[in-house]
Amino acid sequence: MKNQQSTWDEFVQGEGCSLCQPREQNNEYRREIAQLAISTLYLFADQRFRGYCLLIFDPYHATGIEQLTEDEYNVLMKDLRRAAQAIRFALNPAHMNYESLGNSSPHIHWHIIPRYKHDRRWEQPIWEGWAQRNEFVVNRLALPEQEYQEIIDAIRFTLKERE
Ligand SMILES: [Zn+2]
Repeated sequence: MKNQQSTWDEFVQGEGCSLCQPREQNNEYRREIAQLAISTLYLFADQRFRGYCLLIFDPYHATGIEQLTEDEYNVLMKDLRRAAQAIRFALNPAHMNYESLGNSSPHIHWHIIPRYKHDRRWEQPIWEGWAQRNEFVVNRLALPEQEYQEIIDAIRFTLKERE
C-alpha cells in the first residue's frame, strides 16, 4: 500500500510520465494525427470504437484543468472542440463521448470517443464492465496499419479543411 502511494505521488509530480514531452509519435497505444495549438491529437491503437482518439496537453506536466491558466484552458478547450469536429465530420458517428480521467497516467489528456448505434456498448459508458486495469488489453481491437492510416488521413483532411 505504501509503495502504491509513493508511486502515485511520483506520477503526480511527473516522474516517469509517459505523456510528457518529448513523446513518441507512435507506439503500441497511439499514432500521432496532428499537433494542435496546445495539445497533440493521436489515434488510439484500440479501435473498438472507430476513430477513438486521445488529446494530450503538451506544454508541461499538469494533472488537471484546474491547474491551467485561463488562456491555457481556453486554448485547450478549443483544441478539444476542433479535434471533435474533425473526428465527427470524418467518421460520422451518432454521438461523441469525452472523458478525462488520469487515474493511471495523471497528465491532462482527453479520450474522445465516437459512438455508433451498432457499437457494443451503445447507450452505456464505454468503460463499465471492462476488467479493471486490463481494459486496454482485454478485447483490444488492433487494426492493420493501413486501416489506422486511413482513419488518420480522414481526420487530418477534415482538420485541415476546418482550419
Ligand atoms: Zn506528464
